[in-house]
Amino acid sequence: MILIVFGKKILQKKSKMTENLEHFNVQHLFRQFFLKNQCVSDAQLECWINRIQQKLHSPPMDKELAIMNANRIFRHYGFTIRKVFSESIDETFYYLLTNDIEDALNAKSTWTQAENAFYHLLLDAIIQPFLENDFDNDDEDAFNVAKHLAIGMTSANNLARNTTIAIILGEKIVKNWINQHWFKQIDSGNKITLGVRTIAQKSSYLIRKYGLSACKYCSLVCFHGFFCSRCNVCWHEKCLPVNSTTLLSPLLCSSCDSPLAVNQIFNNKNNNN
Ligand SMILES: [Zn+2]
Ligand SMILES: [Zn+2]
Repeated sequence: MILIVFGKKILQKKSKMTENLEHFNVQHLFRQFFLKNQCVSDAQLECWINRIQQKLHSPPMDKELAIMNANRIFRHYGFTIRKVFSESIDETFYYLLTNDIEDALNAKSTWTQAENAFYHLLLDAIIQPFLENDFDNDDEDAFNVAKHLAIGMTSANNLARNTTIAIILGEKIVKNWINQHWFKQIDSGNKITLGVRTIAQKSSYLIRKYGLSACKYCSLVCFHGFFCSRCNVCWHEKCLPVNSTTLLSPLLCSSCDSPLAVNQIFNNKNNNN
């Protein structure tokens, strides 16, 4: 009899422990998921959450809350999960940001010097044509990512020739970088453009190095969007709050009330800054 009561108590205690353990597991797995993948689309994250819930029979997970909890731990290691919207692929991503100093150290330890050089050659090859193009800002279809901010897959792979990386290895590295969202395959896989991770983590570098513009709202590099010539500032189309009244009338600058120019291309050849 005593044994049965005792056994019951242990069982109760055990179920409470597994509950705690599961909670710990979900949070732990969530952090592991980000450490492993570093950059995931909203759809991928949703899919992972659903799978974990089914597997562990855990209660529904609030995505934003899970990110907040993970960031509380990540903060001690210099990481943060950030949300970023990619204008070229029209999708939301979550990525693991490392702060600048850590990033430099990180890049040094995970990428070889040759890989680092290769990466920057690719950036250069993608951005140079954009800088040199004479866009017609009055033409609505002037800017097109596949046309102006991308290079052919073969030219990308061939850039390895300018480094110490063997061409076969170069192809493998480019493939990896595409999987890791540093670059994005477009045009049915024939071309690559900047990936969401490059935009998110290298924006300030790109702005500095190529004299590109920063979006006033999200601070990320802005190739195309709205422009206030009086304030000399720009916004991504998605970054400017649009309500039903502004849909009909011209959009106005939030600082000076001047009408904004739409569909502008910021390659420093077209605008006056
Ligand atoms: Zn923006
Ligand atoms: Zn203005």
